[in-house]
Amino acid sequence: MSTDREQGDPAARIASYLRELMPYVPGKPAWEIEREYGLDRVVKLASNENPLGPSPRAVAAMREALAELHRYPDGDGTALREDLAKRFDVVSKRILLGNGSNEILTLLGRVLLKPGDEAVMSEGAFIVYLLATQANGATRVAVAPIDYGHDLDAMAEAITPRTRVVFLANPNNPTGTVFRRAAWERFLARVPDDVVVVCDNAYAEYVMDPDYPDTLRDLGAHPQIVALRTFSKIYGLAGLRIGYGVGPQWLVDLVDRVRDPFNVNHLAQVGALAALDDEEHVRASREVNRQGMRFLERVCRALGVAFVPSHGNFLLVEIGDASNAFYALLRAGVIVRPVAGYGFPDHVRVTVGTPEENTAFAQALAALLGRSGPGIASLVQETARSRISS
Ligand code: PMP
Repeated sequence: MSTDREQGDPAARIASYLRELMPYVPGKPAWEIEREYGLDRVVKLASNENPLGPSPRAVAAMREALAELHRYPDGDGTALREDLAKRFDVVSKRILLGNGSNEILTLLGRVLLKPGDEAVMSEGAFIVYLLATQANGATRVAVAPIDYGHDLDAMAEAITPRTRVVFLANPNNPTGTVFRRAAWERFLARVPDDVVVVCDNAYAEYVMDPDYPDTLRDLGAHPQIVALRTFSKIYGLAGLRIGYGVGPQWLVDLVDRVRDPFNVNHLAQVGALAALDDEEHVRASREVNRQGMRFLERVCRALGVAFVPSHGNFLLVEIGDASNAFYALLRAGVIVRPVAGYGFPDHVRVTVGTPEENTAFAQALAALLGRSGPGIASLVQETARSRISS
């Protein structure tokens, strides 16, 4: 063995695109902030979780399944894939399952991208698209947003012969913006057949805009689309880690070869299957979100704080020095999400919580801005009254 080799820095042999990867920064758990700041109660509005908790049907089904945990899961997720296939009227061989939709994004990156390839995405889009691109040595082509949302015309323009995939978030995290049917159809008409379009619809179930394109139900004529959804948001199962998607069969087959065996655990399969039938929980979650969003928007208006109108379960709020605001809100017992890493150093993202949680945020924000006056108190009272009467 040469001396050079003995003295070499092992990390230096790792591909530079891996060494330069910025790790994903998750929201901090409430208990950690309680401990760090000596607080009795902390409100976590940092990770777009469902404030109503998990689907009760999912919880009941998983409780029953606990006694089966000595067995490996069904490695093909057969029951869940068949159920999803029926719901979306596709063959079950087109259904993708993952340890969160995040894993599906990672797997798609591994299958579709290698050094020299390009992935087109919007600036300010969900950061995992960048991670899935860079982790495979491919190049991110980032397209400037328009009104905080995806500029699909410019994204179509950015496709080159090197482009293997376009990542789209609809709604986008952290902006909450959507693109609408007309822009989507114009975009699809321009995408070459050998470019895969990953349409990440993690927050689709919250959207009420009549012009929102339901990618999952609209796959027929476009064989290169992969539509992704998750059980982490409206179904309230973020801790379970399960997401799904529908894609072309050739791609699902390739993902199947690179994924870990049993990548979706047994409880996740059982819980997800039960959650799909929990229409009451979905309805209640949507309603709490709708009312909470209205309240947060009114609070922002009352405080003179700008926000990006959102179609998801979170709101991007322009707050000035967001780093300072983040820590001030933490000290007041409210965890929000700083989003400087997305290119928004003046904003924080706040998840819509329960009425009590939203009120805690409103009061902390008002105090931070030095405007804790009767405005917010009367808004809170009004909201409480409208809840009682509705
Ligand atoms: N896509 C988007 C747009 C998201 O915001 C998230 C979660 N933050 C995910 C995908 C991943 O969700 P999960 O892995 O929990 O399914």
